[in-house]
Amino acid sequence: MNKPPFAWAVIGAGPAGIAAVGKLLDQGIEGKSILWIDPSFTVGDFGTKWRKVSSNTRVALFTRFFNACQSFEYNKAPHFAIQDADQEQTCQLELAADPLLWISENLRNKVHCITAKAQKLKLHNRTWEISLDDKTLYAKSVILGMGAEAKSLRFPEVQEIPMTTALNPELLKAACNPNDTIAVFGASHSAIIILKALLEECNVKKVVNFYLSPLRYAVYFDDYILYDDTGLKGKTAVWAREYIDGVMPEKLERVLSTQEHLANVLPQCNKAIYATGFEKRHIIVEGLQSLAYNDRNGIIAPGLFGFGIGFPEAKEDPYGTVELRVGLWKFMDYLNRIMPLWVKYTT
Ligand SMILES: Cc1cc2nc3c(=O)[nH]c(=O)nc-3n(C[C@H](O)[C@H](O)[C@H](O)COP(=O)(O)OP(=O)(O)OC[C@H]3O[C@@H](n4cnc5c(N)ncnc54)[C@H](O)[C@@H]3O)c2cc1C
Repeated sequence: MNKPPFAWAVIGAGPAGIAAVGKLLDQGIEGKSILWIDPSFTVGDFGTKWRKVSSNTRVALFTRFFNACQSFEYNKAPHFAIQDADQEQTCQLELAADPLLWISENLRNKVHCITAKAQKLKLHNRTWEISLDDKTLYAKSVILGMGAEAKSLRFPEVQEIPMTTALNPELLKAACNPNDTIAVFGASHSAIIILKALLEECNVKKVVNFYLSPLRYAVYFDDYILYDDTGLKGKTAVWAREYIDGVMPEKLERVLSTQEHLANVLPQCNKAIYATGFEKRHIIVEGLQSLAYNDRNGIIAPGLFGFGIGFPEAKEDPYGTVELRVGLWKFMDYLNRIMPLWVKYTT
């Protein structure tokens, strides 16, 4: 190691990486001692894959996120369409992605950025070695905000429509034919958005929804939201109440996802969409079998922390239900509480 290590490295520049860099700067950590690594710096999956998705959070929470870090300097941002949107309504994610891209560009001028993919980590001499394709960089502490990939069940006999296609109405339309019977697995926010799009905007023969549990709806109280992380919200909830728990559209069949039903009904389907959740992206950390983390404080190892959709915080509601908190404002709220702990839990 020739140069002194960076104090912090943040791997990933989606909403989680943006929040982490912003909060480190707000803590008074010098920009030149923060290393930020991402292959494209275009606001991660949020800014690229999910732009056409209807949000499950209200505009007000995105606005709160933009204003939560002084170093974001959002008060200096140009006008964005989200500023004209109703703060109490949901919106398309691209409305939030545009200001996030501006914030990301602004932060990039303040820290040391490398456009690359981190390949491997190793703790050596109380410093994390971060291997890229062509060089090795060093940091005392590392925050992993690398995002997550959609899970896939992969029944090989059925052609898969990937989530990135299924959650973009134009791409989904193009992927469907009038003779298609499409299986949709799941009952979450994403699954309901996909069912609505297939039934209302795509020309298909039939849609079969394989589910494991009843629908859940978020309910707002003064001091908490019931099923805040797993419940349906906004327009998606209105549609589900009317057409799934209400009067089902003719072309839709709902089937409990048992082995028996799968054996009987799946053969009728020629395409499948797996809206069955996400799993964290991986990076090799020498000496660790997995990226297991403490889901109340993000600690993976000394000086190594997980954050964002890949390492969400677990939180119990007043009725004892534990949910994983995923969403921009939730990331920021969690970071406000855990950053002081991360600063002390060094290598
Ligand atoms: C369909 C969908 C709808 C959602 N709707 C909402 C919503 O309405 N409101 C809300 O607040 N949240 C929403 N979310 C949740 C969440 O805000 C997003 O998932 C968000 O993209 C997660 O941010 P992230 O930074 O953790 O991950 P990502 O956005 O995936 O960013 C991760 C970044 O890390 C990079 N990376 C990965 N591996 C490496 C590596 N080895 N080296 C360097 N860089 C790497 C990736 O290229 C990417 O740029 C939604 C999520 C999904 C999937």
